[in-house]
Amino acid sequence: MDGLQISDRRKLEVVSKKELFDKVDSVKVKITKALFLPEDFDTLEGDPQAVYPVIPARIGIGKIIETSGEISATSQITASRGNIVNNSDSSDETFGIARGVRVFPHPEIACGRCYECSKGDDAHCSSFLTAGKTADGFLRDFAVFSNDNVSVLPPVVTDNDALFIDHVALCDRIIDEIDLQKGEHVVIVGGDVCGIILAQLVIYYQGIPILVDNNDNNIITAKNAGIYYTLFSDNKIDKNVADMTGARLAKKVVYMTGSNLNTDIALKLAGSNATVCFAGFGTPGIKVNFSSALTKQLNFKCVNNGYGSIDSAINLLANKAVDISVFNIKQIKKEKASEEIYNMAKSSDFGACAKMLIIDMD
Ligand SMILES: [Zn+2]
Repeated sequence: MDGLQISDRRKLEVVSKKELFDKVDSVKVKITKALFLPEDFDTLEGDPQAVYPVIPARIGIGKIIETSGEISATSQITASRGNIVNNSDSSDETFGIARGVRVFPHPEIACGRCYECSKGDDAHCSSFLTAGKTADGFLRDFAVFSNDNVSVLPPVVTDNDALFIDHVALCDRIIDEIDLQKGEHVVIVGGDVCGIILAQLVIYYQGIPILVDNNDNNIITAKNAGIYYTLFSDNKIDKNVADMTGARLAKKVVYMTGSNLNTDIALKLAGSNATVCFAGFGTPGIKVNFSSALTKQLNFKCVNNGYGSIDSAINLLANKAVDISVFNIKQIKKEKASEEIYNMAKSSDFGACAKMLIIDMD
């Protein structure tokens, strides 16, 4: 396997590693596209939560080129086993783990060893292996995964949509955590990519999103995504939200940890006894004013991954519940990856897509 790894702070270097492929029920995947995220830039800058050296790019998609147990590369796979389908050109037969099939490898894998995992509660694993952070990410040509840790992509989900499966999964988990009801207002503080996807999902589930941000471009992107209520975070924000919600402020507020907004805004817009959810892939140092939380007796929730909601997210994308095409994300060939990543690391643009890069690995 050849790839690029972060060996030290601000240092990307070429790496070549042998990867074992002898486990039963595993697949070898040729990575076709990788998505470099703000969290990967944090790893490049030096993140105490990362385990170095590490191959970055939290998200990737690819094609299965080998499944365990088969040796001959020329013979077609027979349909004798339940989860293996014929590897013919017939595209409606590609819903199994077989050669040539497009897959989304899961970016978080439960450790299988902690107290929660040993109780069977892997969704609350206390030490997830996270691609690009505590396990190798997708800036490499090949990777091996256990069958359980890849999801087959239906043809209707395009490659570029598939790169956002984990974002949609995270947002789907937020919807569950805040227990969204039909017709309910949800204030979303932060118009980063996760915030705008969440607002689209709130509409899909018949809630009413109110998206708050301080970046004009993010507000325009949100409007293009069909989000009707967008507010600039100025000193009239609480009055504006009170007007929209009938003076009670919001019962459901989500603060996106990937935004650079102050958490005071989220608490200010929450009504008494409201639920405030802190959500995003990153875990930046965030300060929260607890006296305000106590006064309003707020309920706090936290969501930092999409684990367990991957298949649901694929269905949401297949049903066009979310429009990913509103995001204008730079796409480059792998040969240009190092140069572009170094350049982007120096940028001080805080727009929703500023620290995102799609890398063609073919
Ligand atoms: Zn665990």
